[in-house]
Amino acid sequence: MKKIKKIIIGTHNQGKFKEISNLLPSYIKKISPKELNLSSPEETGSSFRENSKLKAQFFSEKSNLICISDDSGLEIDLLSGAPGIHSSRWAGSNNDFNLAMDKVFVELTKKDPNWIKRKEITARFICCLTVYWPKGKLIMSEGIIDGNISSTKRGTNGFGYDPIFLPKNYEQTFGEMEKKLKYKIDHRAKAYLKIGKIFN
Ligand code: IMP
Repeated sequence: MKKIKKIIIGTHNQGKFKEISNLLPSYIKKISPKELNLSSPEETGSSFRENSKLKAQFFSEKSNLICISDDSGLEIDLLSGAPGIHSSRWAGSNNDFNLAMDKVFVELTKKDPNWIKRKEITARFICCLTVYWPKGKLIMSEGIIDGNISSTKRGTNGFGYDPIFLPKNYEQTFGEMEKKLKYKIDHRAKAYLKIGKIFN
């Protein structure tokens, strides 16, 4: 396979862009949709897989570059898997994740007013990565990290729901954790690990 030297990272989310850049080898030139004045497609899929493919195909076709794109989100068991593929929508049009995390607390309280006293509110982050070539070839991969929902927001690192996600076997939320460690263990890293060899 021809060595990949340039790629568009199909996201306008700064947190994701940084994290995916960090996973890719340093010699690959990374382009953002913003640099090419591309806006995001509407996420009309009904699964992480569908939305991940839809974004990768869209940005690859628009830029004529190989694209790596992710669709990801937080699934909370007590909320029957919500916010799931609607994780970014819960933040509203202003992309306010303080609001989204408050909504998580409100929804959990509706389900169980005593949820804070429960030992565990199990949840997981899921990421589906797609690499899409302009001629239509594609590779997909999924990564999951299990954990719990913290009863308070903790830490200012990362993005999105990081301050309320406690990865299993760790004491710190993703919001408190050093970025370097999060980038090694999270759902995106796990998905990347399965396909990373195509970049070497
Ligand atoms: P989408 O894939 O663009 O639909 O957005 C997924 C949303 O899930 C993001 O906007 C974040 O809110 C959330 N999310 C995905 N991965 C992470 C993560 O690693 N930390 C925190 N939130 C995340």
